[in-house]
Amino acid sequence: MSEQIKLNPFRIRENKIFNYRDTPRVIDTEYLKELKIDVKPTMETLQELQKGSFVFAEKYKNISLVSKLSCIMKDISLDEPLKNHRYTCKCPIDVLEINPMIGCNVNCLYCLVSDGDHSASKILYNNYKKYLRHKLKDENGIDHCYYFAPKTEPFQEATLQTGIAHDILREFIAHFKNNPNSKSYLFVLTKAGKEELYYKNNGETILDLMGELSDKLIYDTSISMMPPELYPILEPRAATIEERLEATIICQEHKIHAHEAVIQPIIPTYLSEDTIRNLFMKLKNANILKIKPEFLTLTIQNLAWIGEIIRHTDKSMAKELYELYIAPENINNFKHKFRIAPDREFTRKAILNLKKYADEYELIMTICHWVRNELNISDKEVPLTVAIESWDVKPWGCKR
Ligand code: SF4
Repeated sequence: MSEQIKLNPFRIRENKIFNYRDTPRVIDTEYLKELKIDVKPTMETLQELQKGSFVFAEKYKNISLVSKLSCIMKDISLDEPLKNHRYTCKCPIDVLEINPMIGCNVNCLYCLVSDGDHSASKILYNNYKKYLRHKLKDENGIDHCYYFAPKTEPFQEATLQTGIAHDILREFIAHFKNNPNSKSYLFVLTKAGKEELYYKNNGETILDLMGELSDKLIYDTSISMMPPELYPILEPRAATIEERLEATIICQEHKIHAHEAVIQPIIPTYLSEDTIRNLFMKLKNANILKIKPEFLTLTIQNLAWIGEIIRHTDKSMAKELYELYIAPENINNFKHKFRIAPDREFTRKAILNLKKYADEYELIMTICHWVRNELNISDKEVPLTVAIESWDVKPWGCKR
C-alpha cells in the first residue's frame, strides 16, 4: 500500500537557472578547447562528460532539474536492519543510519546520494516510529552513534509535515529514558533553518524535542561553500547559510550541543583568502567551535551538470573546475561509488591552507581517515575527526 501526500513548501526561491542567456552545450573536445582546458581527459571521461551534458540539457529543456515537492508513504519491513554508515573502509564501524526516507526534496544538484538526479519517487516510511522502536530494542546494551540522516535531509517538508521527524526524536527520548546508562547518542546533520526547528507536531517543536535529548544529541549544521549566486540553483529547497547559522545559534540558546559545522561541499575553485575569511567570520559569530571540511566529490556525469552551471556565471572558474577533476591521473581518485575528488596535490594544499585560517580564527579543524590517507596529511598537520570510541570529551566540554 502506498499513498501520495500533499506537502507545502517552506520557502520558494527564484531559480535563475532557467533565465540563462544560452541553452546548455554538449561537452565535447570542441567545448573543452573553447574553455581552454589544459588537461587531456581519456576517451571514457569524455564520453561520460558528454552523457552528463545530454541529460542536463534534457532536464533543462523540460524544466525538471528541480523535481516536484512530493512524497509517497509506504511501510518499511520491521526485519530490515539499520544500515552501518560507511562510505569508505576507513570510516568508523559503530555508526548506524537513521533514514526515514528514500530520496530528498531539498534537491541539491550535487547530491552524493542521488548524483543530483531527484526524479525518482521519494518514499517516506509511514511506520518508521514503530520500526525504530523495534530496532532500538534490538540494539539495547550496545553503544552506537545513530546518524540522522545521512541519506536525506532529516528536517524537510515530508518528515516535518507528517510528524515523522518529531516521532524519531520522541523514540530516542524514550529510549534514553529507559536506558539511562547508554553511551549511545544521536547525531543530527542538517541544512535546517529556523522555520524547520520551530515546526510543530502535537504541540511540540523539533527544538523542544532536541532540547529534551540534552547531552544525548549532537547537532551539526551542514554549510556548503560556493559562489552566492549558485545557492538557489544547487540547493533549491535548502535554508540559506545565514538561516542555517541562525538555527545553530537558536539551538545553542536551547542548550543543545550545536557547535560544529561540516563544511560540505566546498567547490574547490571558490576558495580564496576572502571567501575563507568571510565564512570563518560567520562561523565564529555563530559560536561554531569545530569544523570538518569536505571538498566536492562527484561522478563525471554530475560534473558535466555542475561545470555547465558554473560556466554560465564564471567561465574561468568552470575551466579550473574541470581541470581539477578530469585529468587522466585523477580518474582513480574516488571516495565512494564513482564520485571523484579533486586533484590530490591541489586538495592537500587547500586543506593545509584552510587549517592555517582555522587556527587564526581559533576553530578546531579535523579531517576524516580517508582524506588523511589519500593526501598523506599527518596528525600534526590536521587532526583526525575523532572516532566514536574516543568521543568521551567534546571540545566544548560535553562529557558522555
Ligand atoms: S540535503 Fe543532502 S540528501 Fe538532500 S538533496 Fe541535499 S545533499 Fe542530497
